[in-house]
Amino acid sequence: MTRPTPAISVVNVSKSFGQTEVLHDISLDIPAGQVSCLIGPSGSGKSTLLRCIAFLEETTSGRILIEGQPLGFSEQDSGYRARQSRAQTRAVRANIGMVFQQFNLWPHMTALGNVSAALKVVRKLPKAEAEARAMAQLTKVGLAERAHHYPSQLSGGQQQRVAIARALALEPKIMLFDEPTSALDPELTGEVLTVMRTLAAEGMTMVVVTHEIGFAASVGTQINFLDQGRLLFSGPPEEVFRKPRPQRLEQFLDTYI
Ligand code: ADP
Ligand code: MG
Repeated sequence: MTRPTPAISVVNVSKSFGQTEVLHDISLDIPAGQVSCLIGPSGSGKSTLLRCIAFLEETTSGRILIEGQPLGFSEQDSGYRARQSRAQTRAVRANIGMVFQQFNLWPHMTALGNVSAALKVVRKLPKAEAEARAMAQLTKVGLAERAHHYPSQLSGGQQQRVAIARALALEPKIMLFDEPTSALDPELTGEVLTVMRTLAAEGMTMVVVTHEIGFAASVGTQINFLDQGRLLFSGPPEEVFRKPRPQRLEQFLDTYI
């Protein structure tokens, strides 16, 4: 029996900024439908790894495969090969949605405008169709009634849900989240985590950088612990959180639980 192709494969990825290597030879398979959580101290390389998976950052060596396709580019590529892989990369990127800590909504557009903009501009859908699709996504994140509000008229939690709806409107196969609740007051994190739980239950492949260890333990199906650019652990939550835990992980969890 052959194993199904992982949604995402990280293969011996290293990443340097200038002389400083911040990711050291990371390999990781994320099967389709998993909620893969990246945890670890600040500066351990979580965002950099996520940005490499999103092709927002070039790997210095190693490759990222999306559904088995060795796409993306590395700094060693040049000329025709680089141009070709860049074109393919754009196509693959279209399957990946990303949500950041800062919501990055356009302040001069309503919630509906924010969600429908890419459908009109990138997907070139007619206005009515773009807005109907956008409305369906706003309904999904519980914000149909706020569709005509501007970001300044929405709470942080609502703004982040608009950002999630905006990513979902492009019908990605994979959703990446980089600390989606870190900029929110504690009472507003729940509504965002609820939306993420729903997505997980629907089978969306998700990679989530989070300090919400409770979320990671309950919704995560794969927990990855990064420390100083190294992947020290990867496994199901019952394995990673089981006691006794290796000292470095124990110290980290001590500061967050
Ligand atoms: P985390 O998300 O786990 O807090 P990051 O991936 O943001 O960690 O950062 C990992 C390391 O890489 C840090 O030392 C950070 O200073 C460095 N780094 C991240 N982005 C850049 C960049 N664009 N240029 C230089 N150094 C960077
Ligand atoms: Mg980060």
